[in-house]
Amino acid sequence: MTAAAASDSKSYIFQGIIDKPGAQVVGGKGVLIDIERDGKVYPNMIDAIGGAAVASLGWDDEEVQDIIAKAATETTYSYPTLIANKEAERLAQFYIENSPKGAFSAALWCTSGSESNENALRIVRQYYLERGLPNKVKIISRESSYHGFTLGAQAISWNPRIDKFEPYLFGRNTICLKMPCAYTYRFKNKSETEEQYSQRLVDQVEKMVLDNDPDTVAAIIVETLPGSSLGTTPPPKGYLKMLRALCNKYDIIFYLDEVMCGTGRCGGDGKLNCWENFLDPDEAPDIQTVGKTLGSGYVTIAGVLVGPKIKDAFMNGSKAIFGGHTYSCHAFNCAVALGIQEKIKRENYTGNVFEKGTLINKLLTDKLLSEDNIAGDVRGVGGFQSVEFVKDRVTKEAFDTSLNVGARFKEKCFLNGLVVMGMPSNPDGSCGDRALLAPSFVLTEDDAEAIVEKFVKSVNELTDELR
Ligand code: PLP
Repeated sequence: MTAAAASDSKSYIFQGIIDKPGAQVVGGKGVLIDIERDGKVYPNMIDAIGGAAVASLGWDDEEVQDIIAKAATETTYSYPTLIANKEAERLAQFYIENSPKGAFSAALWCTSGSESNENALRIVRQYYLERGLPNKVKIISRESSYHGFTLGAQAISWNPRIDKFEPYLFGRNTICLKMPCAYTYRFKNKSETEEQYSQRLVDQVEKMVLDNDPDTVAAIIVETLPGSSLGTTPPPKGYLKMLRALCNKYDIIFYLDEVMCGTGRCGGDGKLNCWENFLDPDEAPDIQTVGKTLGSGYVTIAGVLVGPKIKDAFMNGSKAIFGGHTYSCHAFNCAVALGIQEKIKRENYTGNVFEKGTLINKLLTDKLLSEDNIAGDVRGVGGFQSVEFVKDRVTKEAFDTSLNVGARFKEKCFLNGLVVMGMPSNPDGSCGDRALLAPSFVLTEDDAEAIVEKFVKSVNELTDELR
């Protein structure tokens, strides 16, 4: 059946490139995936990106199949606005108990990362209404950021390609303000330390808050570790702490998007949250969105976690969340996600992916940056890594977008048996093409070494082609 679909010259899917079916997945096991393209099957490719950084447990996990079968027989759908369900409660309890003490006090489950940010934005709005502060409406997010493809999420995202969708999206200079991104590789001055760079950035944000009347600023949102937008750029030292302090000073919600970098992807031993690498428990975000690895690609689930400050305001006010989706807190999805998270915890796969991801970073740094090739920077945290490509390592000049370096690199990797995500450079040169790696948490040291070997081979091949 799959073969027939792939060899058909037409596509019926209104997504991505819509004139042809392209590559199709036909099977997978652990970190390996089988892909069919143009009638040919490419078996046992190493999947170093797990769909879209989703597959925490890897493909075709037998224990997950049992969890799914049990959930299918034991759960009953409920519409949570009317009737709650125990599975959603249990998943919320798990997440809260496995995060630093006191960080979170409630969760809302939904079906995608974009939807989680839509819900979070509505919660931000309601939070200030509950407190009698209706003028707090402005959201500050970053240039070069990605929070999803629904319109609210696009309004708080930004890359140079979004501009043409204006004015469909909330005004960039009125409600959804944009602060500079934190991008050490390109924008830290040589003469300043990382802390000084952080201070410079946060001073700019403070000026923006003051210029826009702090009484109208509702939230500051950043991806703890930006993924598709900037390529796993770790926050410069002190940056998140300074932003947190700024939010406290002006009564602004500190909101982290960990849809791509969270739920075990970057935390390390037993840690669910990426921010635990950069912030103390008492600096936890007021609101955090999560997704992707929560359901490991087996179920469609994402969520919003809120801290005590947010929950208390609701408890002291209307005691109800305005709005709810038909599939919010979906019992089956929550039961499967909980089973997946319990397995990840039991096997300490968060520790494993942190260790192997760190190894990938070290090997790629050693092998790529010591040789002459198009790799400009190797960066990331734990299981989330990337390489930025540049024309010239000294000037950091990005390749022209028309050269499609990100897509061409992805294709080189594909032909070498490796699946990665390739991202294009910004047309204004403010960010180079990137390749992202977000392997399954179960990868072994051999898998990590094989990923590096294929990656380096692909870099060398593309370097030869471009020079
Ligand atoms: N937020 C971040 C940081 C993301 O990386 C993504 C997706 O890549 C989203 C939100 C949107 O998630 P989804 O694609 O599940 O809607």
